[in-house]
Amino acid sequence: MSAVRVGHEDELEEYAEAAAECTRCRLAQGRTQVVFGAGNPRADLLFVGEAPGFHEDRQGLPFVGQAGKLLEKLLAGIGMSRADVYIANVLKCRPPGNRDPQPDEIEACESHLFRQIELIEPAVVATLGNFATKLLSGKPLGITRVHGQEQKTTIGGRSVLLYPLYHPAAALYTPAMLSVLEADFARLPALLGHTHEPPAQPEAAPALTLVGAAAAAEQLGLF
Ligand code: URA
Repeated sequence: MSAVRVGHEDELEEYAEAAAECTRCRLAQGRTQVVFGAGNPRADLLFVGEAPGFHEDRQGLPFVGQAGKLLEKLLAGIGMSRADVYIANVLKCRPPGNRDPQPDEIEACESHLFRQIELIEPAVVATLGNFATKLLSGKPLGITRVHGQEQKTTIGGRSVLLYPLYHPAAALYTPAMLSVLEADFARLPALLGHTHEPPAQPEAAPALTLVGAAAAAEQLGLF
């Protein structure tokens, strides 16, 4: 029997409201707003990107720019949409000029992500790019080495399947990387335990009775 999932939507919302006031690091000064995360609070699949960019900072939502469009396309390719998943980032505030996250910023912000994972309770955490992968794997191995290789790990006291993927922004302009990302994405349904449902067969026509068959044949002018 599968375990009953208790939702923590209210707690997640309360946590997001508190995080909106966060001043734990210097990024609080330059941001328009905190980009906490968005999507299904009971999602089995959580994506973790790097940090909000210009558009995300303005709109308060993760992955709304070009990389987000590609993420949506990749999701559509496996029959899913943003509404099925939750999307968050390592950093909740935009670094100036979209520079890389600094180690002290990641350290200041990581407990927000860990709490999100505790409350959403995803089965699979797909990390997008190096920063999320290194933080959540706890290992220094880069994305080129580990993409597409799922690993069981414990985050926030919960066992999850960590699945490193290339960041969609990196794949936007590199076709070779895009095909690898597509291939890695194609394995997500199986990792989530989604079984492939064959298309429904059209209902079989009732077998003709001999009388019916004869009548049909007659109608067709065979007799
Ligand atoms: N890149 C990220 O890593 N996160 C976003 O939210 C947008 C782009």
